[in-house]
Amino acid sequence: MFGAALQTVLRVIYPPRCLICGGLVETDFGLCGGCWRDTPFLAGLSCSACGVPLPGASDRAEFCDECLSVPRPWEAGCAALLYRDNGRKLVLMLKHGDRHDIAAVAGGWMARQARPLLEDRMIAVPVPLHPRRHLRRRFNQSALLAQALARALGIGWSPDALERARHTPVLDGKSREARFETLGAAIRVAPNRAALIRDRPVLLVDDVMTSGATLSAAAEACLAGGARRVCVCVLARVAKRP
Ligand SMILES: [Zn+2]
Ligand SMILES: [Zn+2]
Repeated sequence: MFGAALQTVLRVIYPPRCLICGGLVETDFGLCGGCWRDTPFLAGLSCSACGVPLPGASDRAEFCDECLSVPRPWEAGCAALLYRDNGRKLVLMLKHGDRHDIAAVAGGWMARQARPLLEDRMIAVPVPLHPRRHLRRRFNQSALLAQALARALGIGWSPDALERARHTPVLDGKSREARFETLGAAIRVAPNRAALIRDRPVLLVDDVMTSGATLSAAAEACLAGGARRVCVCVLARVAKRP
């Protein structure tokens, strides 16, 4: 009751603004009409493992060519946006601009896609940043998304269930195989969080999925730590233009 009244007061003092252009918006959806139209939200048939859009319609799980050729260690996955146009812009603003307000709204967009993957006792876990990068950037954008997603879905979450075991070299320019190999040993369940993961379904959260190498390493770590199954949800999926 008090919460709702407070919300109304806050809304009058701070009317909601578009996350991208700052214009006034009328809904809680976070974007004005113009920015909304230029944002590639995913809807319709998509790959059941990574969320890229697929042509046509189907009533069973379908997979993209990439997921058919690179087996994913997780069972199902989804994405809220394509990583292009405003999708890319939002990810970069979240990553570099300290924009916690974006995470709060994006968590709702992700929840809409992730709801069918929900299971009893599921726990949302972000892909960890390396401690050094964390210090430089001050916050883990994936942890902000995991928190917002967990809140929207009404499930538990843990910001630090996974950790980087050692410094990961820069991956840009490396071959896909080298990226997978480099990341393989780099993520593990934090020893003091082992009981949180064991025998529970895990919903892995990241801001962007490109090759899926980092998510694979994180999923393998959860499974090695005794997770019952792993699903993934990302804010934006990088997809080749058809
Ligand atoms: Zn706008
Ligand atoms: Zn796929």
